[in-house]
Amino acid sequence: MKIWNEYIIAESLQQADNSFADLNENVKFIAGGTDLLLEIQQGRHNPVERLVDVNQIPELGQLVLDSETIFIGAAVAVSTIACSSFVYRHAQALCEATGLIGGPQVRNVATLGGNVAHALPAADGMIALVALDATARIYSCGTIQDRPILSLFIGPGKTAIKRNELIAGFLIKKRLPGESSAFQRIMRPQGVALPILNCAIWMKRDQNKIDDIRIVFGPSGPVPSRAEGVESELRGKEFSQIPIERAIDAIQMTVKFRSSPRRASAEYRYELAKDLFSRVLHSAWERTLA
Ligand SMILES: Cc1cc2nc3c(=O)[nH]c(=O)nc-3n(C[C@H](O)[C@H](O)[C@H](O)COP(=O)(O)OP(=O)(O)OC[C@H]3O[C@@H](n4cnc5c(N)ncnc54)[C@H](O)[C@@H]3O)c2cc1C
Repeated sequence: MKIWNEYIIAESLQQADNSFADLNENVKFIAGGTDLLLEIQQGRHNPVERLVDVNQIPELGQLVLDSETIFIGAAVAVSTIACSSFVYRHAQALCEATGLIGGPQVRNVATLGGNVAHALPAADGMIALVALDATARIYSCGTIQDRPILSLFIGPGKTAIKRNELIAGFLIKKRLPGESSAFQRIMRPQGVALPILNCAIWMKRDQNKIDDIRIVFGPSGPVPSRAEGVESELRGKEFSQIPIERAIDAIQMTVKFRSSPRRASAEYRYELAKDLFSRVLHSAWERTLA
């Protein structure tokens, strides 16, 4: 089977734009190809006329720390993100999530841009980005727009990013004293693809209280979302047994896990979520002093 007819390596944002000028409908960006090529090979996506490789566009390969934010280029391999000491310093959850994607070969080519654009509700890197309240920098037709990460999803595997819009990268606020994040997941033994359940938490500590918190489970619903009912049991509360137990109860009442035919039933996910959430919460809390 022929997967594509024409393969273009874009070396600038302008070239990425130009690749769509004559053939908008059947053109796709490609980064690591670990999602897209498999989908085409397995018949879940039609073959494409033109693939536009984005790996050589300089802006997409940057990892930059400025005074208020870190910028992670959409085409940086997730293995590089997982090993970056400055990403770890400011976004521990993202290092942990990217370090668990697939195996070493997959991580060396897979990108955060592809993980987000593929829009699966349990994608590990994307779940961490939601907890970190990241902003996506989108390039199209000579203009750049920054959009909240949660505005990019409209359904499982469906993104709000238009066909000719390119994710240039992600902006995450630098970590301030008292802030931290953590990510963990539950996976089948020997599993290398999407997890049964993952959880990312960002929090801000004020002495013995949780001043602010963001909690995300994947997969929980057709698009990623914050577990706001769980967050509200903890925000402004002492880090102690009673609020934590209430938060665990709120998972059952407010988070919408679903059954997926190959990975797990919703009931099983509710059971696993209690322990997973508790572990991630304690890990994030301990790190607030580091
Ligand atoms: C064996 C295996 C194990 C895996 N394990 C995991 C796992 O544990 N956890 C997990 O989350 N995922 C996993 N995946 C899925 C996949 O590796 C990740 O989602 C990866 O991050 C996708 O990135 P990519 O660069 O390969 O995307 P690609 O396949 O190149 O692209 C995916 C989609 O994103 C679009 N796209 C790519 N870059 C951009 C951009 N800059 N702007 C706009 N659109 C863009 C493409 O057009 C395509 O629609 C696994 C895949 C395999 C094959």
